[in-house]
Amino acid sequence: MSSQIVNALVLILLSAGIAIPVGHFVVPWAGWAVFCAGLGLQMLFNFRNFARLDRWSQHPVVDASLEGEGAWDGIFGRLYRHEKELRDQIAERDDQIDRLFAALQALTDGVVALDLNQNIVYCNTTAEAQLGVAMERDRGQPIVNLVRQPEFVAYLSAGEFERPLTLRTDRGSDRVLSIFVIPYAGNRRLMQIKDVTQTDRLDRMRRDFVANVSHELRTPLTVLAGFLETLQEIDLDYDDRKRYLNMMAEQSKRMETIVQDLLTLSSIESAPPPENDLVDMTSLVDKLRRDGEALSAGRHQVVADTDGIFDLRGSEPELVSAFGNLVANAVRYTPAGGTVRIEWKATPQGAEFAVEDTGIGIDAKHIPRLTERFYRVDRGRSRDAGGTGLGLAIVKHSLNRHQAQLDIKSTPGVGSRFAARFPASRIARV
Ligand code: ADP
Repeated sequence: MSSQIVNALVLILLSAGIAIPVGHFVVPWAGWAVFCAGLGLQMLFNFRNFARLDRWSQHPVVDASLEGEGAWDGIFGRLYRHEKELRDQIAERDDQIDRLFAALQALTDGVVALDLNQNIVYCNTTAEAQLGVAMERDRGQPIVNLVRQPEFVAYLSAGEFERPLTLRTDRGSDRVLSIFVIPYAGNRRLMQIKDVTQTDRLDRMRRDFVANVSHELRTPLTVLAGFLETLQEIDLDYDDRKRYLNMMAEQSKRMETIVQDLLTLSSIESAPPPENDLVDMTSLVDKLRRDGEALSAGRHQVVADTDGIFDLRGSEPELVSAFGNLVANAVRYTPAGGTVRIEWKATPQGAEFAVEDTGIGIDAKHIPRLTERFYRVDRGRSRDAGGTGLGLAIVKHSLNRHQAQLDIKSTPGVGSRFAARFPASRIARV
């Protein structure tokens, strides 16, 4: 039996204990009056505490407003402790939920939780940026009203989520997203969104590269096969035979050059960071000038201009090949009578190696793509000049490995300037 009931019984018995002798020895109504007064007092006392409980229950807070008297104090104490424990548990749970949301926010993947009707329940900031939604504004909205791309809508409604959906966003940002839908808690869905733009770009580059290599090698191979067939089937005289064999040698040389450039490119790509050789720039520039003259065979004026106070730190073979490519291009794309100028000069940031020509120049729209593999402004002209379309890709890669930037300036019909800018860390004073 609870102490409250025991107390009530004790008080009733106490009132009766006083009322009975009073009724017996004085007058009966006085006994009843004493008994009723006892009960009334007890009711008043209980009512006061009950009213307190009533008031508190309307705004249950953990504070001193819930303090009772007598046996009520025990009840209020238990209520107080219970309320406090509950609040502590809620605070603890709130903390856990906050930490969970903070973890979801920290994810580099987008996360969107959907309810049974595919309405947004939650999304993290990554998902907001990926899908162009806003949690505050769009909570409770059907996701398909916000991401309206037909392939996304069809994917969600088909309900087959074994494979992720690859979605190219159509909001001008040109991102590629991989969306995984994970069913949870019955028919609810959790979307995990990965940005695969970079991987997609690399995949495409790899596919393009394989297609380009095949194409580049197939052309001379087809020509070679054609000549072979002719030689096998037609009885040619000595001069024609010689002419055909020369053309075949030209094509196989072309294939060899392509393969050689591909091997150079792949060896730079997989090579460890370049050596820190001290490259004697005065003699290198002089050698480049002589090589340029040899390639030009007297058709151009090749001049060198160097202040000779700095040398360069890096991998000598890589730098020789990169600079050599720039000089060769200048000679190949400059009509006879033009000038090719090789410079090595100090700059406020470090030093600059530049090759300037008075050649055919390049239209501005091609410049950003020149260092892509197999990119040529004029395929026919490049082939006639013995180019593979890989030269500037090799140059850019080698320069990157030396923390150098390639700067290209050109005016069609006037000439071009290819400058490799090296930071001070790569320069050594002579
Ligand atoms: P290629 O083997 O075709 O010369 P590169 O990668 O060296 O390949 O150069 C890419 C393209 O850039 C060339 O096909 C050519 O159109 C252009 N180019 C490079 N250097 C020059 C230059 N000095 N003057 C004009 N065009 C140039």
